[in-house]
Amino acid sequence: MPVRLLQEKLSSSYTTTTPITVPPKGSLQNEGEKLEKISLYLAEDIRPEMKDDIYDPSYQDAEGPRPKLEYVWRNIILMGLLHLGALHGLTLVPTCKFYTWLWAYFCYWTSIEGIGAGAHRLWSHRTYKARLPLRLFLIIANTMAFQNDVYEWARDHRAHHKFSETDADPHNSRRGFFFSHVGWLLVRKHPAVKEKGRTLDLSDLRAEKLVMFQRRYYKPAVLLMCFILPTLVPCFCWGETFLHSLYVATFLRYAVVLNITWLVNSAAHLYGYRPYDKNIEPRESPLVSLGTMGEGFHNYHHAFPYDYSTSEYRWHINFTTFFIDCMAVLGLAYDRKKVSKAAILARVKRTGDGSHKSD
Ligand SMILES: [Zn+2]
Ligand SMILES: [Zn+2]
Repeated sequence: MPVRLLQEKLSSSYTTTTPITVPPKGSLQNEGEKLEKISLYLAEDIRPEMKDDIYDPSYQDAEGPRPKLEYVWRNIILMGLLHLGALHGLTLVPTCKFYTWLWAYFCYWTSIEGIGAGAHRLWSHRTYKARLPLRLFLIIANTMAFQNDVYEWARDHRAHHKFSETDADPHNSRRGFFFSHVGWLLVRKHPAVKEKGRTLDLSDLRAEKLVMFQRRYYKPAVLLMCFILPTLVPCFCWGETFLHSLYVATFLRYAVVLNITWLVNSAAHLYGYRPYDKNIEPRESPLVSLGTMGEGFHNYHHAFPYDYSTSEYRWHINFTTFFIDCMAVLGLAYDRKKVSKAAILARVKRTGDGSHKSD
C-alpha cells in the first residue's frame, strides 16, 4: 500500500473511529499497530524530498512456498573465477612493490566511498546534497566498485529498507547468511522484488543526468575503471609486473571490496545489538563499520535511514562521515541531515533492546 494511502487511512481510522490510546481489537489491532508504526516512522523523517526508503511494516510475504531457485550460471562462474583470482592474488601480496600496495589500498578506499558516500548515502537515501565536482568523483568511484549502476543499486536498496526481511527485499536476511551475502546475486530475483521494486519512486534518480549517463555507458565504464585502469597504473607508473598488478590491485582488491560491502547485508543483519529498535533485524556491527568506513551501524541506519552519518555519532569508526564533512568545508557537500539527540533517545526508550549507553 503506498505510504500516502496509509497516511490517509491512518488519519481517518484514528480521528473518526478509534482513539490512539485504545487500539482496535482482533485483526484490526494488528492493522492499527502497523499503521501507527509507519506513521511514527514517517513523522520522524526529516527529509521533504523522499520517503520511499522508510520501512513499511504493512507489507508481508504471500502465503505458500517460494518459487524454485533459478541459478544464473554466468554470475556463478564469473564470481567463482574472481574469487579464485583473488586467492592467487593473496599469495602474490608479499612480492608486490610497495607502491602497488598503496595503489590497491587507494582503489579500495575509492570504491568504498563510491558505494558508501555515493550510491548509499547520497543517491539511495538523499541524506545530503552534493555539487557537481563531488558527484563526478562519486560516480567514477562508484563505477570502480562495480556493484551494478547507481540507479539499480539505489532501487534495490530502497526496496531493502522499505520491505526489509520479506521476499521483496532483494537480499532478505531471513534466507540465511549465504543468500544475503552473495547468493542473491547468483539466482534470479524473487518475483516480489520485481513487483514491489516497480512501485518505488525513483523519479529523483531518473532526473539526474549523471546517474543516467553512468547507466547508459556502464559496461565500458566498468571495464575501464574497475579492471583496465587499476591494472595498468602500477605497470606503467612504477614498473610492476602485469600479473602482480592484475591479481592484487584488480582481482584481490575488487573481491575484498565486494565481500566487505556484502557483510552489511549479511553479518550486520544477523549479529550484534539492537539499541535503537529491537523489532527489526539490522544490528550494530563495529567490525563491519571498520571495513566499510562507517556503514555497519545498521540498527541505527534502518531506524533512521535519512541520517547522513548512518550512525548516531559522526566520526566514530566512520571515515565516510569525515569525508562528507571535509567536502562540506570545501562547499561541495551541503544540507547534511542529522537526527536530533532528543529524537534518538526517544526512539531508544520506545523500541531499544536496552544495550544503548543511556540505558
Ligand atoms: Zn540493511
Ligand atoms: Zn541504507
